[in-house]
Amino acid sequence: MNTTLSILDQLPDGLIETEATTLHHILPNPTLMHLSGRIEQPIFVSVLLHGNEHTGLLAIQALLKKYQNKELPRSLSIFFGNVQAAKLTQRRLDTSPDYNRIWPGTEQPESPESRIAQQVVDDMQQRKVYISIDIHNNTGLNPHFACINSLEPNFLHLANLFSRLTVYFLRPKGVQSAAFAKICPAVTLECGKPGVKYGVEHALDYLDTCLHLKHLPDHPPAEHDIDLFHTVALVKIRDNASFSFDKDRVDLKLNTNLERMNFTEINAGTVLGMVSPGASMPLISKNENGIDNTDNYFALQNQQLVNRKAVMPSMLTLNEAVIRQDCLCYLMERIKLPKNQ
Ligand SMILES: [Zn+2]
Repeated sequence: MNTTLSILDQLPDGLIETEATTLHHILPNPTLMHLSGRIEQPIFVSVLLHGNEHTGLLAIQALLKKYQNKELPRSLSIFFGNVQAAKLTQRRLDTSPDYNRIWPGTEQPESPESRIAQQVVDDMQQRKVYISIDIHNNTGLNPHFACINSLEPNFLHLANLFSRLTVYFLRPKGVQSAAFAKICPAVTLECGKPGVKYGVEHALDYLDTCLHLKHLPDHPPAEHDIDLFHTVALVKIRDNASFSFDKDRVDLKLNTNLERMNFTEINAGTVLGMVSPGASMPLISKNENGIDNTDNYFALQNQQLVNRKAVMPSMLTLNEAVIRQDCLCYLMERIKLPKNQ
């Protein structure tokens, strides 16, 4: 497998029609494609950083189809990320890192993939990238929402153009949007589960709107137009703890109604699962600075795993592989808009 970056300056034949699982026939490597438009300063879009999240690819294909025989309103640079994982419909390959943890600012060791990410950022910085959009799906029952890594007004506007629901976070490190936030307004779109048509339409509309953007307001959106949340904990299951939703002989048996709690405030003492007799705390939760805050949020009571205080989780999923590869969930708290300067 090749882990070098390919760079194209035109649309290859067949790209608009291909599926995520066969994209590697056309783009065998991670590929950065530059297409020129009326306004030179480009929009940067990344898709398939996670190989099983193909809504971004479908939206880009629909956008390219729309502009196939006419000039793009603005130049567009697209990064097609983990094409090899997409071939297998996997988030990432076991043999390579997560493509949304490899970007400048990452805490992971340098790798061929992190060098590719650096190359992409350097290239886009040289082109004076206007805005950056990273498109994802998630596996749980989540509404569409946008994520940002800065509370500057233009970031808030960019997020608000997609959804009134916006999540501000600083961790995990090494994500695309945090790297681009250093050079331009950047946003991550979470478009619900893959394979849902509305997710593709919503992302397509958003991309088309952004292609036509002339300027982003320099004051924050109106308070009543945005629901802004801040991630207060990233929750994982400890590597040495076994877990399952349906098997009994595990350290932690999780409740199957978990994903219904996404973006819902849950009361303190809500039972999230059962632990085996004598088991220790199977979760580890960390705040934005990487400090362990497990004891603030979780407790074991009579072999039940409960939350200590009212919280709003997101990204809870029933997909055990995703929980192991990524995390169990995030916990969030509502924050007020930064005051007008
Ligand atoms: Zn993703």
